[in-house]
Amino acid sequence: MDLLQVGSEPVGVRCPHCQEDIMTRASYRNNTTTHLVAVILGIFFWWLCCCVVPYVTKRWKDVHHSCPSCRKYLGVYTRKTIL
Ligand SMILES: [Zn+2]
Repeated sequence: MDLLQVGSEPVGVRCPHCQEDIMTRASYRNNTTTHLVAVILGIFFWWLCCCVVPYVTKRWKDVHHSCPSCRKYLGVYTRKTIL
C-alpha cells in the first residue's frame, strides 16, 4: 500500500483503506529538527527562553496523517528544511 502524498495541513482525500471521503487527521510530533532548532535557539537566544518555541509550534514537527473514520495511518509529512 502506497502512502498518500500529504502536506503540513489536513487534506481531503479518499481513504485507501475504508474508501470514505475524509479529511485526514493530522497529529504533530517532535522529530530531530524540532530538537535541533531547540538547541540552536537555546544557544543563541537562551536569555529569551525561546528554546521551548519549537515544541509549541507546528513548524518544525512531523505531521502524521490518519483516517478519522477507520483510524488507519495514511502518511507523514516531514519538513526538509529548518527555515
Ligand atoms: Zn479510512
